[in-house]
Amino acid sequence: MTGFDTILMVDWSGGNDRGPRPARDAIWACVAREGRAEEPVYLRNRQVAESWIADLIAAERAAGRRVMAGFDFPFGYPAGFAKALTGTASPFAVWDWFEARVEDEPKSNNRFDLAGEINRRFSTEGPYWANGLARDIDGLPRTKANYANPFPERREVEKQAKGAFTCWQMAGAGAVGSQVIMGLPVLSRLRRRFGASVWPFEDLASDVAFVEIWPSLTLGAAPEGRIKDAWQVEEVARSISALSPEQLSEMLDVTAPEEGWIFGLGFEEDLKRAAALPPRLNNSCFALPPGLHWTPVAEALAGLRARLEPITSTEELPLLDGVGWIAARDITAQRSNPALPNTAVDGYGFAGGRSEGVHTLPLADTRAAAGDAPAALPEGKAIRVLTGAALPFGVDTVVLQEDVTLQKNQLSFRGPIKKGANTRQAGEDVTAGDVVVPKGTRIGAAEVALLAATGVSNVPVHAPLRVAVLSTGSELVAPGDAAQDGQIYDANRPMLIELLRRFGHIPVDMGIVPDDRGVLSETFAQASQQADAIITSGGASAGDEDHVSALLKEAGNMSLWRVAVKPGRPLALGMWDGAPVFGLPGNPVAAMMCTLIFARPALAQLAGAKWPEPQGFEVPAAFSKNKKAGRSEFLRARLRDGHAEVFPSEGSGRISGLSWADGLVELPHEAATITPGSLVRFIPFGSFGL
Ligand code: AMP
Ligand code: MG
Repeated sequence: MTGFDTILMVDWSGGNDRGPRPARDAIWACVAREGRAEEPVYLRNRQVAESWIADLIAAERAAGRRVMAGFDFPFGYPAGFAKALTGTASPFAVWDWFEARVEDEPKSNNRFDLAGEINRRFSTEGPYWANGLARDIDGLPRTKANYANPFPERREVEKQAKGAFTCWQMAGAGAVGSQVIMGLPVLSRLRRRFGASVWPFEDLASDVAFVEIWPSLTLGAAPEGRIKDAWQVEEVARSISALSPEQLSEMLDVTAPEEGWIFGLGFEEDLKRAAALPPRLNNSCFALPPGLHWTPVAEALAGLRARLEPITSTEELPLLDGVGWIAARDITAQRSNPALPNTAVDGYGFAGGRSEGVHTLPLADTRAAAGDAPAALPEGKAIRVLTGAALPFGVDTVVLQEDVTLQKNQLSFRGPIKKGANTRQAGEDVTAGDVVVPKGTRIGAAEVALLAATGVSNVPVHAPLRVAVLSTGSELVAPGDAAQDGQIYDANRPMLIELLRRFGHIPVDMGIVPDDRGVLSETFAQASQQADAIITSGGASAGDEDHVSALLKEAGNMSLWRVAVKPGRPLALGMWDGAPVFGLPGNPVAAMMCTLIFARPALAQLAGAKWPEPQGFEVPAAFSKNKKAGRSEFLRARLRDGHAEVFPSEGSGRISGLSWADGLVELPHEAATITPGSLVRFIPFGSFGL
């Protein structure tokens, strides 16, 4: 049994409490399930961490989920140490030994004393070395000058894992000696409490397993602006949870009874590949609550919004290459804007405001132009400043050049002038560390300007969503081909391809598929390989030739969404081999409306963008209509003379009405009587991203 539902990764720390604000070198943890990581959690000290981990394991267990918890310190010591210290060659004897002796409080612990005590037992300057305290500790050398280690310097696994630190070094950058001593007692208690299995010492029979994991085995430097430990636990948890159960079980197949092992050694490429995999959607993400008949539009949208998550992989790109892509994380300013206080105009700068009346100041013989580093201004003088120049030290106020007279290096102007006039304060636009582009924002012209101005050079972004488009129907012929009697031209595919482009996705044209289940299923198989999501039109209802819905139903995860909307007809939503499928109605008017109203926000969220809410506004109607209660209606409409006109025919076959319109009038679920002048909600096509 090696499948795990929940992967927890913990980056341990041997040091003291790091305070309430998320900091590096503290304890960080991250939970991932089904290839999807939650936000990393900051744990300020070991006491907080132990209870947080215990609560998490208890909750996962209660939910019936198996947990694999990774910790980034050795679970065992080099061969011979366990027996010499405890009399038994078992790693758990060492766990018990430390658990019985370690005293741990947020602000102090006895790890260095214990290291010294062990060294004294062996009467050598080792195995432990490096003392992080000001006070000397008997037996614990500060340097390796006279170091003598009666045990192997490294475990077998550390000889193979390049760059791994030894477990004997107690202080200094990267030292793991302290982490082991301060980590084993916690693991020992958690192991007992949950009956956890410890890898690779025991069979992983329990529903909780502890595994030694060293993030640096596969991870390089953290992206700009991220706390390394937080980033590492997220990457590790996510990539392990993206492994198949077979891959995981192969990686866990290790024998190292005394020293332990580092998970994933020799499988670095598999882990890197798993880290690059986009997350998968749950097969039941389109399931509808049973017994529902006609779902109101708002409810249908809320359902999609709640259940769809980004499915695209993320990467770090140079700023300019990331334009048009969607921010995968909150991006923070690396520099304030303005970075320094500067002048907003061409003029003269000096210290302080001035009251009414005429003021005269001697002019310094230097000037400050844009790009000059600020220098100090002699007291009591004014200085020539040019727009954008950083204010010289001592200058906080600027008078416009048009408002002064100059005579023999004497500057005169009339007050009053307020302190700070014509200047820009440092950080008045953005302060370094502020979120400038929130996660889920598409990086456009305005965003790239802001990011560039605030010193951001690389951006974490979602790879664009690839959407396969296919038209179904034996009556369809492609534009350009000859249409026989009974045949019609395929209007939906060209329309959908253009809509997807406008939404910022990459359309993948899968052509026309006849009403034939075998061909359709083959096309779905190809589409789910080539794209992240699939959009079909036609065949979505429940008739004899409605093969899209029939096929998705056969695959066992289709929901026929009967949304109370006109124009509409059912939407067939389902999953095909991990790819969400949007089965739109065949009728081009209905297909376009359903795309704008349902598929667009759903695809945006799958692509990692914020859920878009089309913004409409109320305008007087130029038409009359009696609308029944029980469904929303979207009318093809346009604005003329401040009034909303609607297309004369509501017939859903009238493709010309789509082109005639500039937007839609949305009539609410309730009944409505509209006469000329009644206020109706108009949503311009621009609000749908067109
Ligand atoms: P269906 O949803 O397959 O029953 O199709 C509903 C109506 O839309 C039928 O009249 C179809 O011929 C028409 N239709 C289906 N697909 C397309 C398409 N790609 N382009 C134009 N009309 C279509
Ligand atoms: Mg059809």
